[in-house]
Amino acid sequence: MDRLEDLDHGVNVAVIGAGWAGLAAAVALTQAKIRVSVFEAARHLGGRARTVEIEGVKLDNGQHILIGAYRETLRLMRVVGADPDKLLLRAPLAIEYPGKFSLRAPRLRAPLHLAAALLTARGLSWGERMAALRFMQAMRRHAYRIAADMPVVELLAQHGQAGALTRYLWEPLCVSALNTPAACASAQIFLNVLRDALDGAREASDFLIPRADLGQLFPEPAAQFVRANGGSVRPGTPVRTLDQTESGFALDAGPERYSHVILALGPHQIDPLLDRFAALAPVRQSVAALACEPIYTCYLQYPPGIAMPQAMTGFDGGSIQWIFDRGRLNAIPGLLAAVISARGAHQSASQDTLAGSIHRELSAFLPGLPAPLWSRVIAEKRATFSCRPGIARPENRTPVEHLYLAGDYTDSDYPATLESAVRSGLLAADLVQRS
Ligand SMILES: Cc1cc2nc3c(=O)[nH]c(=O)nc-3n(C[C@H](O)[C@H](O)[C@H](O)COP(=O)(O)OP(=O)(O)OC[C@H]3O[C@@H](n4cnc5c(N)ncnc54)[C@H](O)[C@@H]3O)c2cc1C
Repeated sequence: MDRLEDLDHGVNVAVIGAGWAGLAAAVALTQAKIRVSVFEAARHLGGRARTVEIEGVKLDNGQHILIGAYRETLRLMRVVGADPDKLLLRAPLAIEYPGKFSLRAPRLRAPLHLAAALLTARGLSWGERMAALRFMQAMRRHAYRIAADMPVVELLAQHGQAGALTRYLWEPLCVSALNTPAACASAQIFLNVLRDALDGAREASDFLIPRADLGQLFPEPAAQFVRANGGSVRPGTPVRTLDQTESGFALDAGPERYSHVILALGPHQIDPLLDRFAALAPVRQSVAALACEPIYTCYLQYPPGIAMPQAMTGFDGGSIQWIFDRGRLNAIPGLLAAVISARGAHQSASQDTLAGSIHRELSAFLPGLPAPLWSRVIAEKRATFSCRPGIARPENRTPVEHLYLAGDYTDSDYPATLESAVRSGLLAADLVQRS
């Protein structure tokens, strides 16, 4: 690729925020040979999906999981030289609640893989299996569209989904994908995820679990790609003001002027950069109206011999939803990551109390489990927006010419995920190119 210094398009883009959305935009602009400068407030890249160091070990700010349907994320990883086949453990859709429920998708053509998974699942009655198949067929007939959005629980009830089927399949899938409990999550967005994950190519439903820390998956190689091709990525450089001048957009972070700006901040971080633009009042209102949901990850380091029966295990009845065995995934023997998605009683416990109760839940499953050598709770209080029925999400394009938004919260048919962040960044980059 030509270096950007050799090119002059008169287009000079500031991307504010180096999460997955901002970096996706920067990579796409770099590929289009457009000069790009990325400003990131934090010293690390990756935003809500970043590497952190705990007890001298490189870990993630929260356990993440991707699925095969994350088409654009996987494509962009390849563009920047991060090989998904090496960095992600690919496993066919499998949900295990030991002794209670087990579902595994065989390597068959879609949607036969799902039908076979439901028919052979353990822990479902015959009636529940049939009800699940009828539900998926009905959704397919309606192209996964419902006339009016409603909470997921209502949709499930309308289609006779009950008992173990909701407890071990639909509700865990909903809270994992939408980070919003089924009682108040958007049925339409849930159906969009089911459409792409369960009714696409068979590989779309695969679970892709990181084998490397999140920074290596995309943020670090993306920044290298941008820099190597003439752009700049500046961690530790917060942008506090944004103005429009006759010579272009001005940021307090430097003297340069920019023809275009992509604001790739989290929804709770964006308001101060919009307040000098009267035309953006409606955008500010719609962003402010988005509620948020937390995700807690508790790392517990046990002696190296401790392991779970599989990389990812479902838990119910306590506070934990999933346990990831980082020994199996990242070759850190004895390290378990417990995930608690969405809001709940755990938010009022102190971190020590929560880690203690998670250890007790694990001890009930692994009798004789010794005390952890260390434990750490990472509470991401604003992990994602709360994906409720019919919420209005702002578009990438704003009423201010050449000023765009990018992030997992912008209008799309996906919940807040790595894929929605990446797609939003790509869309913003595309708008710059078409302007
Ligand atoms: C614990 C946790 C677990 C998750 N699990 C999953 C999962 O399993 N699968 C999945 O697909 N998704 C998951 N997600 C969601 C996913 O991480 C997010 O959807 C995605 O990272 C959002 O990216 P983004 O670029 O839109 O926003 P962000 O990551 O929030 O990026 C915004 C960036 O802007 C920077 N910034 C803010 N203010 C300024 C400023 N003034 N100047 C410069 N920079 C600024 C921030 O520091 C940040 O780096 C999870 C999220 C969390 C927190």
